[in-house]
Amino acid sequence: MRLMQRVIRCVLDHAGADMGVIVKMNMHDGFRRGMQRAECLEVARELERLGVHALVLSAGFVSKAPMEVMRGAMPLKTMAHYMDMRKFWWLKALVRVFGRIMVPTVPFKEAYFLEDALEFRRAVKLSLIYVGGLTSLAKMEEVLGAGFQGLQVARALVHDTEFVNKLRTGEKTCSSCGHSNYCIGRMYTLEMMCHHCAKNLPKKLSSEVESLEKRWR
Ligand code: SF4
Repeated sequence: MRLMQRVIRCVLDHAGADMGVIVKMNMHDGFRRGMQRAECLEVARELERLGVHALVLSAGFVSKAPMEVMRGAMPLKTMAHYMDMRKFWWLKALVRVFGRIMVPTVPFKEAYFLEDALEFRRAVKLSLIYVGGLTSLAKMEEVLGAGFQGLQVARALVHDTEFVNKLRTGEKTCSSCGHSNYCIGRMYTLEMMCHHCAKNLPKKLSSEVESLEKRWR
């Protein structure tokens, strides 16, 4: 907490009066001995007291509880396929053999962090930005109606960069993202990209994505 206080005071000083300072923080880390919700609520209250302008409420821990953050499937063949053999041969072998144990899946549901985020909404008055599993216009409106001032969307935009414009024009009301997480499986070695945009996808990867989409959609 002391380190955070020093950093935030310094950032606020340098930002001056005409720049918003937004902090992205965890509501819980998702693993034993990580930060839990009660501690994170204390952090949020302190950030409000220090004078930041908004919080983005996330959760999980990519290296320790990755699917707590992402939700849905983890395409292990994809992940192993894109790892650099020269640097990570040992990790590649581990993922192939023990991937299911190393990266347990956590079911996807729309707005999967909403229950946690509502707890933060009740605890602080500053602006809050919701992130986590937003794929439909109806859910976005529900979240905004519940007192959040902004929304963050990632995979629905990775899937279709025009998604927000399509919501605006009424061309779409829901993302067609299938939660296969192919994009996540490759993001540690390549740029993040939806399998719909990736060229020359090897057959074993396209079959994996298709079967995961059938299971998780
Ligand atoms: S690869 Fe595409 S469809 Fe699959 S989760 Fe990522 S963005 Fe969604």
